[in-house]
Amino acid sequence: MIPGPIEYESAVLNSMSLPSLSHTSKEFVSVHREVLQNLMPVFQSKESEGTPFVISGSGTLGMEASTVNFIERNSKVLVINTGHFGDRFVELLSRFTNRVDVLKPPFGEPADPKIVAEKLENNDYDLITATHVDTSTALKNDIKRIADVAKGTGAILVVDGVCSVGGEELDMGWGVDVAFTASQKALGTPPGLAIGMVGPKAMARMEKVPPMTYFSDLRKWISISKAALDLKPGYFGTPNVNLILALNTSLKGILAEGIDRRLKRHEIIANAIREAVSELGLDFIPKSSFANTVSAVNLPEKVELKKFLADAEASGAVFASGIIKEIRDKYFRIGHMGSVGSSEVMIAVGAMERSLKSNGYDVELGRGLKAAQEVIYRSGM
Ligand code: PMP
Repeated sequence: MIPGPIEYESAVLNSMSLPSLSHTSKEFVSVHREVLQNLMPVFQSKESEGTPFVISGSGTLGMEASTVNFIERNSKVLVINTGHFGDRFVELLSRFTNRVDVLKPPFGEPADPKIVAEKLENNDYDLITATHVDTSTALKNDIKRIADVAKGTGAILVVDGVCSVGGEELDMGWGVDVAFTASQKALGTPPGLAIGMVGPKAMARMEKVPPMTYFSDLRKWISISKAALDLKPGYFGTPNVNLILALNTSLKGILAEGIDRRLKRHEIIANAIREAVSELGLDFIPKSSFANTVSAVNLPEKVELKKFLADAEASGAVFASGIIKEIRDKYFRIGHMGSVGSSEVMIAVGAMERSLKSNGYDVELGRGLKAAQEVIYRSGM
C-alpha cells in the first residue's frame, strides 16, 4: 500500500518474461502501436488533442522531457508547487532558465485558480507546470480550472500526472498541453517508463525552439511514436521491449475495466480509507482537495514512525513514510491505486489500527474497519 511501485497483476508481470522482441520487428511495432492507441483514452485524449510517447526512464525523465522541449534559455516559467515534486520542478527548470517563478499555496492547500489567473495576467509565461497529485502531500490540484485560465495565454500548461493518470480524472481536452506519468503507479506496470501526451499547442512550440537536451528530446521520441502509429519501425534508443509488453497487458486491463469505472473505484477506495482514518481520530496533510490515489496521514504525537511502519508491515500492510523534509517522520502515506479493492482496504485499515494500538495510541479496534465497511457497502462495490 505504498504510492508506487504498487502491486502488479500477475498477467502484467508474466508479460515481462516473454522473449525480448526485436524493436524493429512487425510484432513489436504492432504492440507499440496498440500501447500508444490505448494511452489516448487513458489520458482522455482524442487523436487531435495529443500524440503519446513512451520513453525508457522514470517519472523524472518525464518531468524533463515534458518541459525543456518547450522553452529556451531565457524563457519565463511558473511552477505551481504543492509539495516535494513541485520543488523538483523548480530544481530541474532552474538548470535551464533563471526565470523560474514559484506559486506556493499555504501548506496543505491546493493552488487557487484565481491566483494562477492573476499571475498569468501580470506575467508573460512561456510555460506553467502543475502537479496534479503531489505524492508527498496527497493533495490534488484542480487541473480543469487551472487549464481554463491558462488556455487563452501563450503559456504551455504541463501537468505532472505521475500520481494521477489512471486513478484520477485528467482530460487533455480541458486545455492541458502536455501531461505525463510513469509506469509504476496507477498504470499498473513496473517502474521504468516515462509516458506522456503532447498536445497541438505544445507541438507547435516545440518546432520553434531549439532542443537543449539529447535523450529527452521529444522531437526524436514523437517521431518514433508517429512511425509506430503508422505501423512503421523506428529507432532512437532501444526501447524497453519487455516493459512495453507489460504496459500493453496493463492498459488492456484498464480499458476492459473501463476508465469511468476505474476512476469511480479509486474514489470509493479513497473515501473508505479516509473515513476509516478520520474515525480513528487522525487527520490528513491536505485540508481539502484530497487525492484518490494516495493519502497522507498525520501520526499521533507519541507514535514513532519507524515502529508504526514496522508493526503495520508485520500486520500485513506496507505503508510509506513522509517525504516532506521538515515533517518526514510526522506522517505516513497510504497508496491506494491500481487494482486495489475492498480486501486491500480491510487489510490496510486493520493493520493500521493494530499498529496504532501497539504503539500506544488509544484506538477501539474495528472502529476504522466499520467506517470503511460502511463506505464500501453503500457504494455497492
Ligand atoms: N512526480 C510525482 C508526482 C511523483 O510522485 C514522482 C515519483 N514518485 C515523480 C514525479 C518522479 O518519478 P520517478 O521517481 O519515477 O522519477
